[in-house]
Amino acid sequence: MAKKDYYDILEVPRNATKDEIKQSYRKLALKYHPDRNQKNPEAEEKFKEASEAYSILGNDEKRRIYDNYGFNGLNMGGRGFSTSSFFSDSIFSDFEDILGDLFGFGSFSSTRGNKRYGTRNGSDIGIEVDLTLEEAYKGIEKTVTVHKEKNCNVCDGTGSEPGTTPNVCTHCGGTGNIRRSQGFFSISTTCSLCGGSGSTISHPCKKCNGKGRIEDIKEIKVTFPPGVDNGNRLRITGEGEEGFNGGRPGDLYIIINVKEDDKFKREGNNLIYELNISFSQAVLSDDIKIKTFYGTEKIKIPPEVQDGKIIKLKGKGFKNINGWGKGNLLIIIKVVTPTNISKREREIYKELREIENKKNKNLSSEAKEFLIN
Ligand SMILES: [Zn+2]
Ligand SMILES: [Zn+2]
Repeated sequence: MAKKDYYDILEVPRNATKDEIKQSYRKLALKYHPDRNQKNPEAEEKFKEASEAYSILGNDEKRRIYDNYGFNGLNMGGRGFSTSSFFSDSIFSDFEDILGDLFGFGSFSSTRGNKRYGTRNGSDIGIEVDLTLEEAYKGIEKTVTVHKEKNCNVCDGTGSEPGTTPNVCTHCGGTGNIRRSQGFFSISTTCSLCGGSGSTISHPCKKCNGKGRIEDIKEIKVTFPPGVDNGNRLRITGEGEEGFNGGRPGDLYIIINVKEDDKFKREGNNLIYELNISFSQAVLSDDIKIKTFYGTEKIKIPPEVQDGKIIKLKGKGFKNINGWGKGNLLIIIKVVTPTNISKREREIYKELREIENKKNKNLSSEAKEFLIN
């Protein structure tokens, strides 16, 4: 396939001025920027084409070669450069320059006379927050304290003492990235010498010791919705570490740690309560009040209830955070053998045993054995 003319790609006449070329490229780069055209290979292609065209026409020397010799001039390299070598660096640094001031974060380069530093997004932060089971049940708003990094306000994140300028990194030429090309595609890695900043510091800023970053302690209000569970993560967009040179901030991840409760347990979205009752309550029935997370609940113990029976209170469990509905409150009946009984109680139990023995005489020996044990 024949390569498209660079002037056609940038939609400018052959006698366009440098500014006209730049303007047009800006327009196209914005229109086809991958951030705005996700999963659109056609836009990606156009974006790459425009970037390639601008890397040539935006550079006086390369434009002159292209005007005189066309693509061949560029490929053969009248001055010894080949597509792969100049694509590796220039496309993206030009592109970052131009998008840099386009998005309003090119201020370092213009005011300080440095080459732009690489733009990098801030890191994500994860913090663990303890909730009681009741807080997880009801949901709660909590203020959490986050320790994060932000750009130093004295040196604006450059790491250089104000009034001094950092040196452009000799390894990456100030782009912060090392690009390797394969055909038209290139792969980028962070520069190992400057760590992606694009510069090395000659006079370190006293406030941040040349790191360009300082600690920021921020209080953030976090809403924990009802029904959150142990191990759930909440993501708070943009509350991670500040980006570098206009890069996006990272996200804050809140990892939920639900503490154990003395009385209640959680299984799935069910709230579990083990209710201890006595023999007489088990036999004769009773109404028992228990304190739950939502208030007092009256539990009706049916007569002659067996140990292990589960009484289900529908919809009184945890809210399902992934959809509709709620779990149940499950009351597990536990019949407890009395201890430290009084003389009077002992007499009653003895009498009870006699009655039971009389009843058992009419049963088979197998059943008797069961009852005696
Ligand atoms: Zn500083
Ligand atoms: Zn570097």
